[in-house]
Amino acid sequence: MTETLVIALGGNALQRAGMPADADSQLKVVRETAAQLLAILKAGWRLAVVHGNGPQVGRIALQNEAARKITPPMPFDVCGAMSQGMIGYHIQQALGEEMERAGLPGRPVTLVTQVRVDVNDPAFLHPTKPIGPFYSREEAESIAREKGFVFREDAGRGWRRVVPSPMPLEVVELNQVRTLLDAGFVPVTAGGGGIPVVYEAGRGYVGVEAVIDKDLAAWRVAEGLDASTLLILTEVENACLNYGKPNQKVLTRVPAAAMRAYLNEGHFAAGSMGPKVDAALRFVEGMTGRRAIITRLDLALQGLSGERGTEIVAS
Ligand code: ADP
Ligand code: MG
Repeated sequence: MTETLVIALGGNALQRAGMPADADSQLKVVRETAAQLLAILKAGWRLAVVHGNGPQVGRIALQNEAARKITPPMPFDVCGAMSQGMIGYHIQQALGEEMERAGLPGRPVTLVTQVRVDVNDPAFLHPTKPIGPFYSREEAESIAREKGFVFREDAGRGWRRVVPSPMPLEVVELNQVRTLLDAGFVPVTAGGGGIPVVYEAGRGYVGVEAVIDKDLAAWRVAEGLDASTLLILTEVENACLNYGKPNQKVLTRVPAAAMRAYLNEGHFAAGSMGPKVDAALRFVEGMTGRRAIITRLDLALQGLSGERGTEIVAS
């Protein structure tokens, strides 16, 4: 059987600095990303794709807020579902076209994906993730009173809503993802980390106002699909020690135990490289024989063959 690979696409796979945040630009960037994914499919991998959605869902939330006098704003979980559809649509177009041209069977299929979290996750007591537009203190206080949202001052730029970032527990649609994969399709799943839901007896899955880290969600997808490899594609070629300092050290092939020690020493920033290394470690430590690779989007194939990037292997 061919090996299964789960790819987590970072922000640069969907949007590039200096390009307008419009639909044409997104499709253009996604086409470049699709060329990378095609090379991987041609190499024979069974592939599932997870992607980020930070800027996209932020804009959807902003659009909803700006139009609140005309039409009711959708809650954040619904905005997350919209972002999965919007991004998945472009991936289906771009990658679908590439696969057709290359004569490959199967096509990308986007799944609106829920990811279950624990209502008692301590993250719910400490919201950390800024979302949506900036407000004045007065606006923030009034919305906080009206809706119970939590606001924080964001680096002198104004007040911003913050939501919790709980741990992903399971992908609700895992069976559907696996069925698509087995049938030869390329599932696009858990976009933006998935729509966070809690399970309530008698009510079923209920969306919550939170953001799941997409790299950690990709770990859950990879684990659930019994993938052999987790490939995290981002803006930098390597995870580094002493990142950005004169004594910076590029990491290439690292045993999991050593990488976990580096993580605990604080080498990887929270909210960026930290969750990538965390996801990679959880995946590799979950079962022997697994590999996780962190590298730059345009080096994806070389990352898989071990020539470039940072590879985390079982200790
Ligand atoms: P993505 O959108 O791909 O998730 P992030 O911005 O969240 O991208 O994470 C990648 C960024 O992490 C890099 O661009 C880099 O600036 C930052 N980073 C923080 N710590 C490190 C480190 N130790 N090694 C490499 N990059 C790091
Ligand atoms: Mg990130």
